[in-house]
Amino acid sequence: MRLSIASYLLLIISVCFFVQFELVWLEEQKIPVSEETDEPARQARALYELYENIWKDLVYFPIPESTENEEATVSYENSWLFERTYGGSYGHEGTDLMANINKSGYYPVVSISDGVVEKIGWLEKGGWRIGIRSIHNVYFYYAHLDSYAEEFEPGDVIKAGQLLGYMGDTGYGKEEGTRGKFDVHLHLGIYIRTEQLPELAVNPYWFLRYLEQNKLSYSY
Ligand SMILES: [Zn+2]
Repeated sequence: MRLSIASYLLLIISVCFFVQFELVWLEEQKIPVSEETDEPARQARALYELYENIWKDLVYFPIPESTENEEATVSYENSWLFERTYGGSYGHEGTDLMANINKSGYYPVVSISDGVVEKIGWLEKGGWRIGIRSIHNVYFYYAHLDSYAEEFEPGDVIKAGQLLGYMGDTGYGKEEGTRGKFDVHLHLGIYIRTEQLPELAVNPYWFLRYLEQNKLSYSY
């Protein structure tokens, strides 16, 4: 069977129409980018920026190096969300910097960042603690202190590297001044404020690792 030129043309035109129709149909099937599908991406970006802010605030490692005693070191591990059991089971939201010399009041604790004193005083779990709100709205929480360097009050301006107090073993007791329930260490917590949560705990371990290169030297 032989087809005339006109038949060929008709066939080609038909195919073109069909392809065109398919393309239009496919275009219609595309899911439009709705605000709902875009929202998680926006939230993720916002969270990324908040994390970035932490890096901007970091200045000094919280425990200065001793110029007097090479035994006066601290050690810490990535204990993020390890189980803690005081007053019920929960995950550890922080990093514990353990004192090699297990002596309360021996190691100085300095502020990691510039900021303002937000919280001060006794907490059942945290003992003598101080909370510093940094310029970029990050909350640095220093717990279990033996004592404070001075009589801080909420609103006091703090410079990075400023002496806050001394490492201790206070806490784990309703009674103010409870001590000796665990080895001497500094519990460091870092919290950011997100759109959803007033306090989101982040793992301080990697920030501390980064700060190892920025240690002050103190005579102790
Ligand atoms: Zn801890």
